[in-house]
This record gives sequence, C-alpha cells and structure tokens, in this order.
Amino acid sequence: MAEEKKTFIKKIRSAGPMRDLMADYFKEMDEAAKTGSAKIAWCTSVGPAELLRAFDFLVYFPENHGAMLGSSRMAADLIPAANAIGYSPDICSYLTSDVGSYLRKNTPLTKAFGMEGVPKPDVLVYNTNQCRDVKEWFGFYEREFNVPAIGIDTMRGIGDITPNHLQGLIGQHKALVPKLEQISGKRFDIDRLKEVVASSYRCTKLWKKVLRIAENKPSPITFFDGTIHMGPAVVLRGDERAERYYEMLLAELEERVQNGVGAVDGETYRFYWEGMPVWGKLREHAEFFAEKKSCVVASTYCNSWIFEDLGHEDPFEGLARAYTELFIVRSENFKEQYLESMVRDYNVNGVIYHDAKTCPNNSNNRYGLPQRLTKSLGVPHVVINGDLNDLRLYSEEQAKTQFEALVEQLHERA
Ligand code: SF4
Repeated sequence: MAEEKKTFIKKIRSAGPMRDLMADYFKEMDEAAKTGSAKIAWCTSVGPAELLRAFDFLVYFPENHGAMLGSSRMAADLIPAANAIGYSPDICSYLTSDVGSYLRKNTPLTKAFGMEGVPKPDVLVYNTNQCRDVKEWFGFYEREFNVPAIGIDTMRGIGDITPNHLQGLIGQHKALVPKLEQISGKRFDIDRLKEVVASSYRCTKLWKKVLRIAENKPSPITFFDGTIHMGPAVVLRGDERAERYYEMLLAELEERVQNGVGAVDGETYRFYWEGMPVWGKLREHAEFFAEKKSCVVASTYCNSWIFEDLGHEDPFEGLARAYTELFIVRSENFKEQYLESMVRDYNVNGVIYHDAKTCPNNSNNRYGLPQRLTKSLGVPHVVINGDLNDLRLYSEEQAKTQFEALVEQLHERA
C-alpha cells in the first residue's frame, strides 16, 4: 500500500460551513437563472455590489469564477480558446480563462455545484478601479448576451483622495440608479441601500478582525487559509449570512489564540505575500512554508476586501470612498507606506512579491518598491515570477528556489 504523504496544513473547522454557504449562494443563482425568479447582475470583484443588492439583484462575480478556474487547474487548457478569438495571452488570465470556459462550455461550477454553466446576466456592472481588463471582459459578455454593461470609471494611481475625485465618483454611482431601476423593475429605496451597506460594513469589520488576528504569535491563520475563507466577503458582502459566517470563523481563530495554537506548528518565520495568489499552487505553497515552520501571515490580496469607508453616513459617499481607497487604485508612495505598516504590524521577517505575468495591476515589484522597502526596513524580499491562473507561466522550481533563498537568508541572520 502506498504511504500517505504527511500534510503540514492544519484544517480550519469552519471550512465545512463555508463550503455549504458558497453552495447555497451558487444554487440560488442557478435556480433564479433557470426560473427567472430573480434578476442577476454580474459585478466586478470591487464593484458596487451593495447598490445591486439594494435592487434585489443576485450578484455574480466573474473574477470568483476566474479564481475557481485557476484553483481547479482548468485555466491553462481554456485560455487558448480565448486567444483564438483575439484575446491576447498577455492580458488578464482570469479574463482569458473565463472567456475560454464560456466558449468551451466547461466550468468548475458543474463539478462543484451541479451547474450547467454560469448564470446568465440581466446586467453587467463594472468598476475600473482595479484595471481596464474588467471593462473589456464585461464588453465581451455585453456582445454575447446582448445585455447592458454599465459602470464606474475610476482614475488610477491616486495619492490622497480629494473632494474632486469623490464628487465625480459619487455622481457616477448615482447615475447608475435610473438604469438599475429600469433593468430591475424596482424603485430605488435609499433605506434599503443603507441597510445593505450597513451589513456590508459589519462584514468588513469582521473580515478585518479575521485577518488582523494573524498579528498574534503564533498566527492562527495563514494567507493561504485567507484566500479560501475570503469567499463570503467577496461574493456575499451585504448579505447577513456572510456576517454570521465570519462570527463563526473568528470564534474558532480566537479559540486557537487562547490555546496558543498556531496555523503552522513551531512558527519560526513570518512572511508577507504581496500580489496575487498562484491559484493552482495554493496547496503546494501552503505545504512548503508550513514544512519550513514559516507562516505567511498577511497579504495585500486578502486585505483588499476591507472597505472601512462603508461606515460613512451617506451610503453613496461611503461606496465612492470605499471603492477608491483600495491599495490597487493608489499611488506608488501610498503603496510603499501601506506595505511598511503591514510589515511592522504583523511583525514580518520577509516579503514575497509575486510578479504575475498577466496582471501588472497586482504586481508591485516592477518600479523598485521591494528594493526601497528592504532598504528602509531591513527586511529581505524575493520575487517569484508566475501568474494567477496560467500555470504555463509559472516554474515550480524557480519559486521554490526563491522561497528557500528567503528562509536561508533568515537562518543566516539568526
Ligand atoms: S486586477 Fe488583474 S487579475 Fe484582477 S481582473 Fe484586473 S488584470 Fe485581472
């Protein structure tokens, strides 16, 4: 009998209820798409989901589907179908794998939730705060499904967010209202929007506590756990079920802290992950670091779904601020200061930068930032070259060599 490989990954109990919650979310949407019992809006991952829920749309996030295509390792087989119709191999591999999945009629939703395909949208709503690609992505489906693609065009590389920025963004959010009234067949109700935004804000505060609990030594959670458990904060923010879920997860993590239980046994080194996950290699990366008694305690990626400005008393200003204050929207100086504070808060020994070939927007190693940060904080870093979804752009050997080099540097300093 073959010997079972020892795993170093510690299971989180709440993972079971989280899978059930995600299954409910997808099944409700599948049912609505088949019966027409509710309208469906597609939304970019940091788009105005709360505004859509205020009109009772069920909200579907293609980027979440993109991540599923990556983690199920289906992406590399599907991307060529999108390339064949003119979508470059150099653009976002979420986009190309998702379009490829649509063209080939092959989705991980079938195996996971018994769905034949993605739920057909009534409207596509984007925010270009993260990149141009999301608008082009929704443009594809606008032509395919013949439904409107509407949204918010946010400026990028912002330092301080000024009243001028906000005025335009609030106006753009408000301009969506009559269009959404028409598509949903429902009158806009400001009180309903306030309720949804308040729920989303409570969810954000809980999600922040989940991530911040990793400041403890040993940390009860890793970045790799975070990429899985962020699901409800992404797709169900504004729905109270997400709040209940994070209360449960937080209680479990607090219990670990009280009992001195770390996510990694014998935690010695603590790392920060800057950039996208390599979705098809999460397990391997988690095992690698756990085996080295190292914990990747925090990341820009998981923190990107903390929207503190949703607490603003005016929900439109709250939405405009929350979806513009994000790391990805900001200037290089802002990013540097943010990363400095993360390294200090989480007591990090080293930083791993993922240069994702098809996502320059989430690759922050390209303008000297790692070198500046290493110089100012004295914390070593490595860069791995790879991609979020396209594993043909990733070398396991190169990544492991880099990870090992980082651990080795710290051994030598000790
Ligand atoms: S930010 Fe990057 S990964 Fe996300 S949609 Fe844009 S290009 Fe793709």
